[in-house]
Amino acid sequence: MLPEVSTGLFDLSADQISIQSAARKFAQQELIAIADEIESTSLPINVGWRQKYARSGFLGVNIGERWGGIGLSNLEALLIVKEFALVSQAVAWPVFESVVGPIKIIEKFAGEDLKARLLPAVCRGEIVIAAAMSEPDAGSALTDLRTTAVKTQNGYVLNGQKRWCSGAGHAEGYLVFCRMGDGRGRDNIAAIYVDRDHPGLSFGQQESLMGFRGIGSADIFFDNAEVPESHVVVSPGSIGRLMSVFNLERCGNATMCLANAEAAFQISLAYVQERKQFGKPIVDFQAVQMRLADMYMRLRAAELLIYRAVGSSDALPTAEASSLAKCYANEIAREVTSNAMQIMGGYGYARAYGVERRHRDAWGWGVAGGVIDIQKINLASHLVGRRFSQR
Ligand SMILES: Cc1cc2nc3c(=O)[nH]c(=O)nc-3n(C[C@H](O)[C@H](O)[C@H](O)COP(=O)(O)OP(=O)(O)OC[C@H]3O[C@@H](n4cnc5c(N)ncnc54)[C@H](O)[C@@H]3O)c2cc1C
Repeated sequence: MLPEVSTGLFDLSADQISIQSAARKFAQQELIAIADEIESTSLPINVGWRQKYARSGFLGVNIGERWGGIGLSNLEALLIVKEFALVSQAVAWPVFESVVGPIKIIEKFAGEDLKARLLPAVCRGEIVIAAAMSEPDAGSALTDLRTTAVKTQNGYVLNGQKRWCSGAGHAEGYLVFCRMGDGRGRDNIAAIYVDRDHPGLSFGQQESLMGFRGIGSADIFFDNAEVPESHVVVSPGSIGRLMSVFNLERCGNATMCLANAEAAFQISLAYVQERKQFGKPIVDFQAVQMRLADMYMRLRAAELLIYRAVGSSDALPTAEASSLAKCYANEIAREVTSNAMQIMGGYGYARAYGVERRHRDAWGWGVAGGVIDIQKINLASHLVGRRFSQR
């Protein structure tokens, strides 16, 4: 006889289900219209809405209570991200940044004064903090970044250029990855917090991306921007520790993918039961049934990989678990949203049905936060127990 297999390993608790339901109710009742508006204007959700999210208990839920958060787990945070992102990733963006964004690096590594200034403000919805890591010549090869932070009497002077920062221009603060001192490689990389309005900081034109409407992206220029010493969040030599927090961001990335794919799936599932061709609903065609089953299998598998990565504790996910969840969710989100469009025929391609938006949005996540192939290299490293030099 086969041993009994536990099916309850990833079951949500009653409290988690109630958080999920509250987020679903809020997102479905309040955010659908605003999501449509954002899709046409490309303007990010405004501070008034963010504060409403905060009052309703949806921001910074995994930030410590001491700092204005709710002190819940990373899993609970991602349940909320998913519910908001089922409506649109643009409305989910402030939630995402408040639970898996650079704020978590700040919570873990910043000095007390900086934490006291930034963490409660994020939890109240007053500010969003974005990650400024990539540069024109430092994408996958992030450790080639050239933005410098040079020591002065009062702090550091930043010079350089960032690219692809999600939130650039509208986020109120930036965690800027930079190089302190001479030399190349990872050893002298640091992270410094800078306010949007800081002298010496300016933005290029907003990028026009395939998706991600309402989540701005632009180059950021630092021209002798002097920041106080207390704004140094991560000192040189700690990039490894810093990247461990980034594993959580990867799980947020995977959750955005899952939500895009799930939303496209739900829309197409309803559609194929209504749409008739050859005198019967198209769901009666076996080819459509196979696609539905394939989509559903991938969604549930992606969800389990995310749950596995974040578990139910406060511990940060491992590189293996987060790369696996991100990589798989990145790939299946492109596939599932594409299949959803296909089984809806011309209607899948029409903006009004919202499936093509999920495809456009889903696509970007397989580049953001480290491309799919880099995640696969991380996984191979895990399998053989050593890092592979890319140089
Ligand atoms: C929607 C979106 C949001 C983003 N948000 C942010 C953000 O908020 N903050 C931020 O700092 N950055 C952000 N980025 C930037 C993102 O992190 C980079 O685009 C990403 O790391 C890849 O860098 P790249 O675009 O320079 O591509 P490249 O590094 O030039 O890579 C291009 C391709 O080359 C191949 N490749 C490169 N190196 C290797 C290798 N070693 N092995 C195998 N194949 C390889 C891969 O196929 C890869 O897809 C965002 C990007 C997008 C698209």
